[in-house]
Amino acid sequence: MDCNRCDQDAVMHAAYSGSHLCADHFRESVAKRVRRRIRRDDLVPQDATPENPQTWVIGLSGGKDSVVLTQLLHDTFDDDPRIELVGLTIHEGIEGYRDKSVDACVELSDDLGIHHELVSYAEEFGVRMDDVVEDDPENMAACAYCGVFRRDLLSTYADELEADLLLTGHNLDDEAQTALMNFLEGDVEQIAKHFDASLGPLSKREDQSEFVPRAKPLRDVPEKEVALYAHLEDLPAHITECPHASEAYRGEIQQLLYELEENHPGTRHSIISGYEEVAEIAADEFSGDDGADLQECVECGSTTTREVCRKCSLLEALV
Ligand code: SF4
Ligand SMILES: [Zn+2]
Ligand SMILES: [Zn+2]
Repeated sequence: MDCNRCDQDAVMHAAYSGSHLCADHFRESVAKRVRRRIRRDDLVPQDATPENPQTWVIGLSGGKDSVVLTQLLHDTFDDDPRIELVGLTIHEGIEGYRDKSVDACVELSDDLGIHHELVSYAEEFGVRMDDVVEDDPENMAACAYCGVFRRDLLSTYADELEADLLLTGHNLDDEAQTALMNFLEGDVEQIAKHFDASLGPLSKREDQSEFVPRAKPLRDVPEKEVALYAHLEDLPAHITECPHASEAYRGEIQQLLYELEENHPGTRHSIISGYEEVAEIAADEFSGDDGADLQECVECGSTTTREVCRKCSLLEALV
């Protein structure tokens, strides 16, 4: 089959749009979607200048999503002195998993000439995820601990690096899963928070000055296309699953979405576009409710709704 835009062989077919694209036109189409998302979400503020550049910290895990995001942001902003990119990699202490993906992060950052920071649970908190899973003092899934520690480090280092924006490589499948999970759990407040934390255009989000805003510029690109992009660009992405991965409910939703998308191409896109509209309405409705009971953790000083933050109480339970 030929590409729709030239006479090269097509390397992909997108059932949701009906398009067949060759490697060059496919790469161009991915880059275009990411740049359009950056514009629509107002990620580059008017007052960014070469003298007053914005620092964008990318959560760089070494998996295909964050590697593709980093490459595309580099291609987009390499000649733009208003944006400085920093890659931030978190080592959770998971034997045989993270070491290789850290290598991929170092290699990519070197290739692109961007600043790279590597931080670990071991150095920051004195724990490794492999040991946390063994101890399991709270009788929880591994990801429940890991998520608390990761969020803490991302926000601590976003502050330390004076980040204006924290960017992650969530793709269309990830976002459609989260949207559907929030719907099915019936948690409208969570949907409102999602809008203000990472989903809405920056200009429409409620001001949350105590947190660095987040953004997901890859969220219009399906997972398969991110993987194909990484492959065609020969990017040093590391693809193995974490041995502690345990989000069983997300797995069910993922399976459901695969089937729906197969039978009704375009389902992921329509879930997300409806969800974004509903999330904006919910965010308006809950506006002003947030932040009223925020305080500083008495142990570490981070912003929390409790006296001792979740990270500090987990660490206490682990020793
Ligand atoms: S799958 Fe779970 S335990 Fe593994 S790195 Fe991700 S959040 Fe951590
Ligand atoms: Zn073509
Ligand atoms: Zn704390």
